[in-house]
Amino acid sequence: MKISYISTRGDNTPYLASEAVLKGIAHDGGLFVPTNIPKMDMSSLNFINMDYKKLAYEVLKLYMTDYSEQELKRCIEDAYTGKFDNENIVPVIKADDVFFLELFHGKTLAFKDMALCLLPHLLKTAAVKNNINKKIIILTATSGDTGKAALEGFKDVEGVSVIVLYPKNGVSKLQEIQMLTQEGNNVCVVAVEGNFDDAQSAVKSIFNDNELNKKVEENGYIFSSANSINIGRLIPQIVYYLFGYFNLIKNNEIKSGEEINITVPTGNFGNILAAYYAKKMGLPVKKLICASNKNKVLYDFFNTGSYDKNREFYLTSSPSMDILISSNLERLLYHLSEDQNKTKYYMESLNKSGNYKVDLDLSEFYGEYASEEDTMIAIKQLYEKTGYIVDTHTAVGYSCYEKYKNKMGDINTKNIIAATASPYKFAKDVVRAIDPFYEENEIPKQLGLLSSLKKEDIPDQINGIYDRPILHNNICAIEDIKKFVDNSILGNNGN
Ligand SMILES: *Cc1c(COP(=O)(O)O)cnc(C)c1O
Repeated sequence: MKISYISTRGDNTPYLASEAVLKGIAHDGGLFVPTNIPKMDMSSLNFINMDYKKLAYEVLKLYMTDYSEQELKRCIEDAYTGKFDNENIVPVIKADDVFFLELFHGKTLAFKDMALCLLPHLLKTAAVKNNINKKIIILTATSGDTGKAALEGFKDVEGVSVIVLYPKNGVSKLQEIQMLTQEGNNVCVVAVEGNFDDAQSAVKSIFNDNELNKKVEENGYIFSSANSINIGRLIPQIVYYLFGYFNLIKNNEIKSGEEINITVPTGNFGNILAAYYAKKMGLPVKKLICASNKNKVLYDFFNTGSYDKNREFYLTSSPSMDILISSNLERLLYHLSEDQNKTKYYMESLNKSGNYKVDLDLSEFYGEYASEEDTMIAIKQLYEKTGYIVDTHTAVGYSCYEKYKNKMGDINTKNIIAATASPYKFAKDVVRAIDPFYEENEIPKQLGLLSSLKKEDIPDQINGIYDRPILHNNICAIEDIKKFVDNSILGNNGN
């Protein structure tokens, strides 16, 4: 069955998967959603022993129906071969009776690699299929991890260049150094004087700026996005929830068909939305536990039905979740309401007044949040109980899951937590959580301590990162982003 994609906001033009991947965002500012979510027979024994790449193909072929088998298999092969430091790509680790789905074994040590190593290949293939002979400009705002993963995924990919915008004071030191040392002849990194929401809004407004788009196209370029608003990001993320589930069956932790809970530390709502898609495909999921940090806009939403971004914004130890506008929630609103006008109305209200209230059934989700203190305690307690060390984002997930269990009494359902980053990536806070008296401030020393606690080597991905040369030094005010992008693509002739 062919699947097509329409906007969440009213434009009913159906796009093929490859077209939606190329466009990134719909004309009317909405996000692309599949007209129906395909089903998969989760009781099929075939899936249980499949390796990651094979399973990825089984999922992708259901959604990206205009790509040929050969195209998809080649994309998957190019994406996942030799890029992960674990032979299973996504190991599932049991600690304290919880299953940690380790999504951080790629080049940048965070889960964004799972999709961003595949997206460039999907995009390049899409360009060829659609006879696009323009150069693709990937414009992406990052709360820290997307940026580096996009840079790694797209570096030196022919016919594509990448511009990454990150909030100057809103990412961790290590995240920043990862981006500033990025090599590649087609990459540009910019520090923005604002927070993530400012950067993301600027990117969205560039995508919606018809005049700029026209000018750029006339010069032989088109914009696309590597943010999780692109369906080419979302769909690859479905795969690992299924992979995790089948892994539990294989290891006799659950029976085929048994319900599980899935807990996802959440920011932009992309990762947990992929879990929701997995559920709609037939994965037996009891609750999707949406875990927020101190920026608990989603916790409030799931508990009251009111979304309100008008609130104080906090910088936390889980910076990749410091977000007040969770873009992908728009897709959930569409799926729950199956009503484009309603979704459009919510989003207009969000744009105008910063809030909206829904009358939708949100009961498939459970919203919880962890304070900064909860997060630190979670890291310490899990370590002392089991020896397993999680990063700050995953710790938010663990803390929220514990709260869910205590409040709801649901102690028997097996639970998968999306472990979204390696503890090395947030070594400073992880080390401080485990040993509050540890005073060493230099990151290489923190990495060293962590590696001795974990009794393993520092991952190659970041070992020695401070000895690498800084290659980028752009800083830009919010109001100048458009001009900067315009200039960096079209140079001085572009004005
Ligand atoms: C991006 C990110 C998140 C949040 O994921 P969303 O898809 O934005 O909800 C959580 N943890 C880490 C480490 C991340 O990089």
